[in-house]
Amino acid sequence: MDIRFEKREHLQEKPDQKNLGFGKHFTDYMFVMDWDKEQGWHDAAIVPYGGIPMDPATMVLHYAQETFEGMKAYRTAEGKIQLFRPEMNARRMIKSNERLCMPGVPEEMFVEAVKALVKAQEDWVPSEPGTSLYIRPFMFATEASLGVHMAKSYKFVIITTPVGAYYAEGINPVKILVEDEYVRAVKGGTGFTKCGGNYASSIAGQVKAEKMGCTQVLWLDGVHRKYVEEVGTMNIMFKIAGEIYTAPLEGTVLPGVTRDSLIHILRDWGYKVNETHLSIDDLMKAGHDGTLEEAFGTGTAAVVSPVGEFVYKDDSVIVNDFKIGELTQKLYDTLTGIQWGKLEDKYGWTT
Ligand code: PMP
Repeated sequence: MDIRFEKREHLQEKPDQKNLGFGKHFTDYMFVMDWDKEQGWHDAAIVPYGGIPMDPATMVLHYAQETFEGMKAYRTAEGKIQLFRPEMNARRMIKSNERLCMPGVPEEMFVEAVKALVKAQEDWVPSEPGTSLYIRPFMFATEASLGVHMAKSYKFVIITTPVGAYYAEGINPVKILVEDEYVRAVKGGTGFTKCGGNYASSIAGQVKAEKMGCTQVLWLDGVHRKYVEEVGTMNIMFKIAGEIYTAPLEGTVLPGVTRDSLIHILRDWGYKVNETHLSIDDLMKAGHDGTLEEAFGTGTAAVVSPVGEFVYKDDSVIVNDFKIGELTQKLYDTLTGIQWGKLEDKYGWTT
């Protein structure tokens, strides 16, 4: 792929690595590329980070034809920079785009664009423990016209932001509200895609959870509000009587890269991983009878996030005395060890 490079006159000052937060600082450059029917993907360029002018009738602003991805670049102790399974994000975006009738960026092109952008601004990948460069590829309909239809033109953009450890004090258990009113996804819908609309409709649940003193929402299935699906913007896993349970990928759950990686590791360690429907009643029962040993969300941003308490209607259960479980910690240490190059990457996941 031919990538034009447009040099920026003045580089920005870098933020304090000890105080990065999440998604607050944006780097000097971004990757852009356009698509239309006649030319396909064209005009790939790395350009100074900045605004994208838009006609008020630009279709994405009205009908939300938009998809995105989330991944990270990690700096190892030797100063090398690595990506973690970037081809998984490329393939997931292709699937998201198929569902939203948007053109896909071929896998090699996607990975090449990510690598080129990270390389062009290597010094933005932070080195403080727990920090990384978060990478946000996204695509949207650029055609300016009203009326719901498949747009004739699209833009693919990648922006990057140096981020701190998701939880400043390390991983900490959180209190979760089991949402029994709003739903996130139904079969036949867009639950398995990373499209902006999924997140827009989830905010009401998040606001409700916060009002009730909870950090996040546990989503139940959209038809029966009975089976456990995801937690906030993470997949969720449970350790019940020594076995692992997580929702199956049947169209309503996002196929997380972290989820897939942890399932590999867990099976490697000899755990039985059940990708199956677990009802909220069985989960609460396991919480009360003491067989629910650990629960944790999994995702790129926080890696694993232990759950300390589930609140469901008038009931609530505390998990593992609101402490980080042994397995949760071991999974966190193992996966972050591979991502930051501290542990041998025996699965060949880093690039
Ligand atoms: N579920 C949802 C709804 C998400 O937004 C994310 C974050 N991408 C995940 C799960 C976790 O996916 P991953 O492990 O690829 O970050």
